[in-house]
Parts: sequence; C-alpha cells; structure tokens
Amino acid sequence: MIGIWSPATLRHDPSAEIWIGLRTPGTEVAERVHRIRDAVAADWVPAEEAPWSALTSVHSEGLLRHLRDVYAEWVAAGYPQDRVVPYVFPTEAMLGGLPGRLPAAVHGRAGRYAYDTMTLVGLGTWEAAFAAAGAAWTAARRVSDGLVYALCRPPGHHATRDGYGGSCYLNNAAVAATTLLAEGCAKVAVIDVDAHHGNGTQSIFWERADVFYGSVHVDPGAGWFPHYMGFADETGGGTNLNVPLAPESGDPAWLAGVARVCEAAARFGAEALVVSLGVDAAADDPESPLRVTEDGYLETGRLLGGLGLPTVAVQEGGYHLETLGPLVATTLRGLSTSKRGVE
Ligand SMILES: [Zn+2]
Repeated sequence: MIGIWSPATLRHDPSAEIWIGLRTPGTEVAERVHRIRDAVAADWVPAEEAPWSALTSVHSEGLLRHLRDVYAEWVAAGYPQDRVVPYVFPTEAMLGGLPGRLPAAVHGRAGRYAYDTMTLVGLGTWEAAFAAAGAAWTAARRVSDGLVYALCRPPGHHATRDGYGGSCYLNNAAVAATTLLAEGCAKVAVIDVDAHHGNGTQSIFWERADVFYGSVHVDPGAGWFPHYMGFADETGGGTNLNVPLAPESGDPAWLAGVARVCEAAARFGAEALVVSLGVDAAADDPESPLRVTEDGYLETGRLLGGLGLPTVAVQEGGYHLETLGPLVATTLRGLSTSKRGVE
C-alpha cells in the first residue's frame, strides 16, 4: 500500500486550545503523525503541493487567504498571545442578513472564518494544513494504485467551504473527492468513520448529485460536537446519510451503521471511495464516548473494502496516542485484505 505524507504536517503543534473559556492542553498534536508512521506498513511517498485550484474547488478564496496570512498579521500587530484567538464571531444572529464585512482590526477579523475557539491559528498552521491537503490531492491522483492512504494532519472533515473549526482548517477528504472527480470519476462516495460528524464535508457537498456523503458518528443530539449538525434528518439533495449512534455504542451498532452507509454508497453508484478515517470511536479515545474495539476496526475496514472501489483513505481524528497507530494500521489492513482477497 502507498502512504502519502509530508514532514510539513508536523509544523502545526497546538500546545493549547481555548475550550469553554479554559486554556486546555492541545489534543490534535504533531506526535500523532509519528505514532501512525511507526505503526502503518506502507511504501511512504512524499506529498506534492496541491495547486491553488484544487483548494478553491472546496474552499473560498477568503478562507484560504485568511489561513495563509492571519498569523503574520497577528504577530505584526503585536498581540501577546502566540496564537490567533478570536473573540467576536459574525453569526447570522449578529448580522441579521447584512453582508459579512472584513474588519480592519486583526482581532476583529480573527473570527470572520472561525466558528469555535479551540481551533487556533499559530506558527506553522497554514504550512501544515496546506501540506495535508497536498497529501490528499497526491493520494487521489494515485488512486489507480488501488488503496492509497493519506496521512493528513491536521484533520479536515469539520472545515466548511468558508470556515474552520473542530481542529480542522482545510477539508482534506473533500479535496480528495473533488480531485477524483477532476480525474474523470463520475460519482464519488465519501464515507466518514470518524467518531464525530463531518459537518464540513456534509455542507461542502450538500445537494451535490455527484458526491455521496455518509457518516457514522456519536449523536450530536446527545451533547457531542459538532452539536448543530449530524442529525438523521439531514439528507441534502438525497445523497447525504447520517447514522448517529447513542453514547456507549459498541461494535454491533457501529458495524451495522457502517454496513448501512456502505450499502447506500453502492446504490449511489460510486466509482471511487474516499474514507474519512478517524479512529476516535475507539473505547480508549478521550474525545468520544463510543466503544469500538480493534476487531471492530478490522471489520470496518473489511466492510469499506468490500465495496471494491479505488479508495483514498484520509486520516481524520484519533487522539489516544498509545492505540492510535495500531488502530489505523488495523483498519487499513481490513481495507486491503477485503479488496484483494489475500493476506
Ligand atoms: Zn473526531
């Protein structure tokens, strides 16, 4: 199996997040890359830089320029914090239908594209996010190799067309999907097995007839991020399927959900598959209350591989450093054995 990565993805390393007003230790840390690289047996290939057009196929120019430039502007303005911390957000409740302007002050502008306070921009954030998107782009262009794994980090599935949050800046899975379309696939399925709903991917492809999005995740209605999206009645243009699970759900409910999403992707007629591969539904993971076992991840990989499609697996979450690498490796093993019928 080919694995795509870039050392530039290590350059973003948040020491802290601001969560409910508290400064808490960062969870989406650069060490995750080392843990995964140590565990996954792949032929590692360097990521190429994604062209700007691959990024604008998914994101607004405004968001991209903001992520690229805001940290330098913040430093130049002399703010004491080492990260760009927003304090005002131009929500619909504030604007009441008026257009969102771009504030003159950097501390005002800081909230223009952010939707939470835990996803901060600091030294190296843009370089890492840009490299991760490049890994997804490179992987999608090599999908004729069968199964290609993109070790993307920071993750991406919470990033929307015009906004960032949930530890995500650029939507790597969406970049992979639009690249597959550009390469000639007529229909692409994105299946998201991260423990959290990929609200960014859902909103980017909402009502698109050529991209199916299916997600199995902890029920946002039970109090979990992203709180506002990920409910079962969100069907977009008919190509969106959410399977929210109760907290404490284990392998049986999880695998039934994955099977349901896979069946829908097959009915959709997908010609290629993007897997948003988070492993934070594992029992040991501190970021979700789901209870999926290592055997459950092996079977998850087998179900996804059973679709028999050219597949780009894009890394999303997974925060328990001791089990992160082995769980990713196990899922990829399930994907590859199912596809090839060997091993
Ligand atoms: Zn997650």
